[in-house]
Amino acid sequence: MIDSYKHQGLRKLLVENIRAKGIHDSDVLKAMETVPRHFFFDSSFLKYAYEDKPFPIGAGQTISQPYTVAFQTELLHIKKGDKVLEIGTGSGYQACILAEMGAKVFTIERQRSLFNNAVKFLPALGYTIKVFYGDGYKGLPAFAPFDKILVTAGAPYIPEPLAEQLKIGGILVIPVGASDVQIMTTVTKTGEKESIKREHGSFRFVPLLEDKAAD
Ligand code: SAH
Repeated sequence: MIDSYKHQGLRKLLVENIRAKGIHDSDVLKAMETVPRHFFFDSSFLKYAYEDKPFPIGAGQTISQPYTVAFQTELLHIKKGDKVLEIGTGSGYQACILAEMGAKVFTIERQRSLFNNAVKFLPALGYTIKVFYGDGYKGLPAFAPFDKILVTAGAPYIPEPLAEQLKIGGILVIPVGASDVQIMTTVTKTGEKESIKREHGSFRFVPLLEDKAAD
């Protein structure tokens, strides 16, 4: 795969566009300028890689819109060395943005074909990301607690295990809503049983699916 000057130029423009839409965290913008989003696209669709739009990645799923990736990542306040759990690996693009920012990334995907792809593809890009096949509603108890947890699919409610697997001081970012529109929500854990919940506007995600066979 080639990251040509043309791709790099398109990426710079995309990042400027995202900045103009209100993303200010320079670490987030730098990571998005670094990770070649077109590597996550089939070669016949390369021209769509640098539009600020979601795009189908197979198995009925999408790679999130770049602005949405930036918005969720900014809410996480990533610091180098943060242990981060992502629910919904999809193409693996968001996981690479987090890894690029110096996070230790664990990611879970329930679609076998997307999981198989990510397991092979992410190391080929040079990122060390732990990819798991399973149900994100359960989190990853064996590796908890996490500094940050990011859900990249629309959840009808906040799964209890995710809140439990957060460190005190940790942040969960999750789009919540049972319809096709969700409210971007952050939960900051302030004590063993206390947390602060905030809402950050409406977004549209594919649904976080529960208890359904995925192969
Ligand atoms: N973060 C992805 C975009 C994800 S789209 C990217 O950067 O490309 C949402 C993903 O969540 C889809 O791949 C979908 O299969 C997955 N998903 C849905 N329900 C899930 C669940 N219960 N556990 C884990 N993954 C799930």
